[in-house]
Amino acid sequence: MAERIPAALQQLLSERLSYYEDIGIRLLYRNRGTGSLPQIPAPFQVHREETHLPKATPASASLKIAATAPSVPRKIDVLPVVSGPSLFESVDKIADDSLLKIRTDLGDCTRCKLHKGRHTIVFGDGNPKAELVFVGEGPGHDEDMQGLPFVGRAGKLLTQMIEAMGLQRKDVYICNVVKCRPPENRTPEKDEVTTCSPFLLRQIDAIAPRVIVCLGSVAAQTLLETTRGISQFRGQWLEFRGRKLLATYHPAYLLRNPNAKGEVWRDLQKVMAVLGLQVKKSKSS
Ligand code: SF4
Repeated sequence: MAERIPAALQQLLSERLSYYEDIGIRLLYRNRGTGSLPQIPAPFQVHREETHLPKATPASASLKIAATAPSVPRKIDVLPVVSGPSLFESVDKIADDSLLKIRTDLGDCTRCKLHKGRHTIVFGDGNPKAELVFVGEGPGHDEDMQGLPFVGRAGKLLTQMIEAMGLQRKDVYICNVVKCRPPENRTPEKDEVTTCSPFLLRQIDAIAPRVIVCLGSVAAQTLLETTRGISQFRGQWLEFRGRKLLATYHPAYLLRNPNAKGEVWRDLQKVMAVLGLQVKKSKSS
């Protein structure tokens, strides 16, 4: 006789399936080989044999330097360490996805514990068809109050960096790994990143930028699924789902370590070269 699923488990499975749908996982199959009911997986521990999704390349392969980018010199000789099953390989691109639809799916999100302390969800801001996307860590106090990313002191510095590149904020798209402010601006915890970052993945897929710049280690380690320190690959071209990705220091780090501004400017100049942007000449020159 078929094993009956307890009501509480049905409810949990229902919530979990709704969540998978919101983040773009549409096909799930039960592995009948075990003969017993599966345990509810921890967030995103979706295994390849259970999803029957198109076979993906090994996670490490997605981290190779952009071999498809002949205009970008190959400089990296270190591949990031991949920790555990890939978070993103199970998430297919959703046809005709849009930022509006992703925001609608996110809703008044309570999927992780960060919702308890937030004032506002900070979804993202900027050009929905931007060629350049900046990804930060998470909202701070000012962002939480205004509902916009990078509007505090670090945000002002980011704006200056964007303008130094010959762009304006409205030309690029800015978002974060987690959409709700962590208490006391602490670093987002693994479960929070795991739960929220698939929405970031959908944002990036929907925008389809030419270049992604990760601001700080949380953004870089999340998208690259690595535990390596950012200093090991900062300023080097990597590849993320077919797009060029470069990690640099977070503007908040630059506020504490102004001497690192030169390194970040050199990183941004690499981005400018790929996007065909020119450094503006000063009036005196
Ligand atoms: S951080 Fe992301 S997953 Fe967590 S409650 Fe906010 S929007 Fe939802």
